[in-house]
Amino acid sequence: MQRRSFLKIGTIATAGALLKPFNSIAQINAMNELRRQSFGANFLFGTATAAAQIEGAWAEDGKSPSIWDVFSAKEDKTIDGGTTEFACDFYHKYEEDIALMADLGFDVFRFSIAWTRILPYGTEHVNQRGIDFYNKVIDACLAKGLQPWVTLYHWDLPQILEDKGGWTNRDVIEWFSNYVEVCAESFGDRVKNWMVFNEPMAFTGLGYLGGMHAPGKRGMSKFLKSVHYVSMCQAEGGRILRRLVPKANIGTTFSCTAVEPKDPAKKRHVIAARKADAMFNRLFIEPALGMGYPIDDVPVFKGITKYIEPGDKEKLKFDFDFIGLQNYFRTVAKFSLWPPLMWANMVKAEKLVENKDDLTAMGWEVSPKGIYDVIMQFSAYNVPMIITENGAAFEDHLTSEGKVHDERRIQFFKDYLSYVLKAKDEGADLRGYFLWTFMDNFEWAEGYEPRFGIVYNDYETQKRYPKDSALWWQGFLKGSI
Ligand code: BGC
Repeated sequence: MQRRSFLKIGTIATAGALLKPFNSIAQINAMNELRRQSFGANFLFGTATAAAQIEGAWAEDGKSPSIWDVFSAKEDKTIDGGTTEFACDFYHKYEEDIALMADLGFDVFRFSIAWTRILPYGTEHVNQRGIDFYNKVIDACLAKGLQPWVTLYHWDLPQILEDKGGWTNRDVIEWFSNYVEVCAESFGDRVKNWMVFNEPMAFTGLGYLGGMHAPGKRGMSKFLKSVHYVSMCQAEGGRILRRLVPKANIGTTFSCTAVEPKDPAKKRHVIAARKADAMFNRLFIEPALGMGYPIDDVPVFKGITKYIEPGDKEKLKFDFDFIGLQNYFRTVAKFSLWPPLMWANMVKAEKLVENKDDLTAMGWEVSPKGIYDVIMQFSAYNVPMIITENGAAFEDHLTSEGKVHDERRIQFFKDYLSYVLKAKDEGADLRGYFLWTFMDNFEWAEGYEPRFGIVYNDYETQKRYPKDSALWWQGFLKGSI
């Protein structure tokens, strides 16, 4: 169940240096009363989603298969056998969903575009019906007063490109550029806020090193190639948007998690934590900032230099207007001799909690202070930040009255938001918070079992039921609590 035991690591030395003496969550809650106004008038609240997780309609209107369509249809790749075929049927229900988001009081709808709807052959032949669909989604947002924030790539590469090596083929820089140009030209008149990638560490690490996500490949050289080509695309995507979209606000998102050594007094654990931090938090942002890959901290990364061609170092850089931080839990690292991790191992979340209520349905530790730690750590990069994902799966039950009493999720949001506010109050340049996620959806290799939404989805009927947490958000956003 612990999908990313080797992912999502965060803060170490830097955070330690930045930390101030701590107030307990109860004190913080009491101090701040958690009101929307405390975040400031321009702070944006939104919900985040991804195409492959919600749209369904996997073969409709000219769409070709993505790596997740193919992977999820194979036996034993998702825990419950769930596929992307129907998901939440957002493809047909977008109007209703967008109306509900607006009604709950959100400012922003973050969603991703499916490359396979726009360019079914991966490159060149534009599918007008795919463009029409996203035009309708964008226009529905604007009509309801929601800002559309678009992620260009949330893990669903066209299978036709994967068949040529996908992210491990250097040609992907050209393929991706072609796709970004079409999106920028088609939607840039109305979409001003863009994110190039969703969590590059997750899709390269799980897709090309660990193999538990699509396309299910394994191997260090595949991973290192994909890291370099994705990093090249990250910056190139930014440049294309800058060129083609007037007044664009351009970002990209990173998975990040506060990393602590199992025992700070033991050097081997401290080194393990530094390696984990380099791998999980710094690998994709530092080349974009002109700092290169964190090779010194993780010697195995030296292998990446084989794939770096003359001129690449300059091209890895892009001046992002913001970075998106995505945080779910903290990580405690310990020394390990055992490959394949080679750098560090993670203490199991169950060992970190006294009470099993502090674990989510994903087996992740609820650790709200961790979001403060990552914000303070990433503040050091001096780029405006947005929390582009944060949320939790818990076991939800739909009552016969159509209600879901998800108090734990409400508490989760209150606790995390309190720490977000604390970071902001202490000077972090934080511009918004987008929760994960609007409605229960396809949770990748975990299928449909974990429910992360503030809206319950009945997959049989595709009927939506706002959970108590949705109503809590509505009260918070509209100022009635
Ligand atoms: C991903 C989402 C995913 C969420 C919860 C994030 O890493 O961007 O697609 O559903 O985590 O696991």
